[in-house]
Amino acid sequence: MAAESDSGSSGPRGPALAAWRPVASAGSADTDQAGRILLLMEGRGNRQQLANLLSARYRVVQVEDGHLPAEGFDLAIADGPALLRWQDALYEAKHAQQPVFLPVMLVLPRADLRSRAGRLRSIVDEFVVSPIDRAELLERLEMLLRARHQALAQRDQFVRIVNYDRATRLPNRNLFHEQVRTAIEAAKAKGESVHVVAVHTPFTRVLETFGQRGLDHAAAACAERFCHLAGDDVGLARLGTEHWGAMLFDDASPMDRVLPLCTRLSKVERHPIEVAGEPIRPQVRIGVASYPDDGSDAETVISAANIAATQANEGEPAFFSPSWREAVLDHLRTEAALHDALEQGQFELWLQPKLRLADNRVAGAEALIRWRLPSGELVPPGQFIPVAESSGLIRRITPWILATACRTVAGLRADGARDFVLAVNVTPADVSASDFAARLQALCAEHDLPPQAIELELTETMLCETGADTIGRLRALREVGFGIAIDDFGTGYSSLGYLHQLPVDTLKIDKQFIDGVPGEAGSDTVTRAIIHLAREFALETVAEGIENEDQLAYLRAAGVVLGQGYYIARPMPANDFAQWLAEWK
Ligand code: C2E
Ligand code: MG
Ligand code: MG
Repeated sequence: MAAESDSGSSGPRGPALAAWRPVASAGSADTDQAGRILLLMEGRGNRQQLANLLSARYRVVQVEDGHLPAEGFDLAIADGPALLRWQDALYEAKHAQQPVFLPVMLVLPRADLRSRAGRLRSIVDEFVVSPIDRAELLERLEMLLRARHQALAQRDQFVRIVNYDRATRLPNRNLFHEQVRTAIEAAKAKGESVHVVAVHTPFTRVLETFGQRGLDHAAAACAERFCHLAGDDVGLARLGTEHWGAMLFDDASPMDRVLPLCTRLSKVERHPIEVAGEPIRPQVRIGVASYPDDGSDAETVISAANIAATQANEGEPAFFSPSWREAVLDHLRTEAALHDALEQGQFELWLQPKLRLADNRVAGAEALIRWRLPSGELVPPGQFIPVAESSGLIRRITPWILATACRTVAGLRADGARDFVLAVNVTPADVSASDFAARLQALCAEHDLPPQAIELELTETMLCETGADTIGRLRALREVGFGIAIDDFGTGYSSLGYLHQLPVDTLKIDKQFIDGVPGEAGSDTVTRAIIHLAREFALETVAEGIENEDQLAYLRAAGVVLGQGYYIARPMPANDFAQWLAEWK
């Protein structure tokens, strides 16, 4: 039974390690049977008499080989001489059980009452005078045992709260850590391994949509399935909102049992769970880490398994690799530093020109963010944009980019570049913000810019994964006049049918194809196909990453409308760009 505790015996241990299944709601075995009475009587006759009297109702236990009984006891009855002999051991036993009450009752002749009872008060909780009145003794015993029973029940409840997840009744993070710690200790002594499996079920959406009750319901249903799938020799735990832990409950758990366990746990996905009448399919990511290979203590091994789970593909467990820990640390550090960057204005917006290939006129530019560290070092966007995207910080960075972009293009237009278009890279997360369009329009109005001055670039991969909602928002933006371009086109998997539905004006042919022209058959075919496709759909084309004259000539001849790349100009700070533009003219 779960939450079993060592109520009677030698000292305070952690919660019992047999606690692997959901904890039952009823009281523990200990509290149900708080009725083991230890008889410590030097007078043999008395001992026998009392034993006979008590054994009808209670379990009478005795001293074993000069020690208090290993199984423990719930109340001790001693006579004067026995108490003197056992007082240190009793004191220790009472102390070890604190704060749970372990009563000791003293039997003494009336004559000794005054002299003895007072001195032993620190150990003795109650006394009866001999010759013993049976009814009185039983009454007093009952009262003492009731007090102990209550203390045990409270302790059990406390143990449950501290060690078990309320919604699923599985061991929680605390207890699982304790269990893994114990398993590692045992494995250490024998030179064996311990494998920990972390399972992630993305439940944040459930919480957002259905609230805490919905989440609890989903977690309980999931836990039930996990228990069923895992089998009896597996310890399961709920480590957090969407994190679970599993460990083979066995001294030696060879790796060849871990993989089948992962396979079994991943079957939780097979059938949807119903939350508030809606079917939810719990998709899992599973990571595995081991002692001693991936960490020497429970904390490290569990965190390694969790890191592995974040790297896993659906349906396929990932085994921890140390480089992932580095990557996670890097990610955390970058995220923290990005907050500073925003607050301290460490971002710069650089511009890279786009040339109209037919007549070499500058049609506009792409705005590319740069992060200048206090040391002066420049961080390229590839190193921090993914972190900003996954942490949601991009939603604070993009407004700054848009404001800076609008101010910049307004300045360039005022200086004579009348039809200049500035392209800004955005993500679907930006566009899906409900006030995105309103803010962009307000910025344009503030700088007296037509929407045509701004183009939004979204990568093909991102667009393919975007919901109908965001596509609708993009369509509305396009309808009011903002340009929409698909960046890195050719690398995603947009089908022709899908492309047709997207609200776009421009395809930016990905650099990897530009790299291969002229000369490489595959790149040549793809590039020409994209140009043809764009013509059919009446879209503009941009070739990005042009690095030499041959590429430029080839793309110009092939009919690409705009070109961008180091061969024309590298990205540069906005001030340098104004000067570059004046010289180009
Ligand atoms: P992208 O939008 O495809 O930008 C083109 C990237 O190619 C830029 O790298 C640019 O500097 C680089 N590039 C341009 N011409 C050449 C060339 O001839 N040769 C080579 N080797 N590279 C060339 P960058 O600035 O490092 O940006 C990388 C990516 O970061 C961008 O790819 C874009 O996806 C993202 N990014 C940049 N700025 C922003 C931004 O302000 N917001 C968001 N959300 N993403 C941005
Ligand atoms: Mg771009
Ligand atoms: Mg690109």
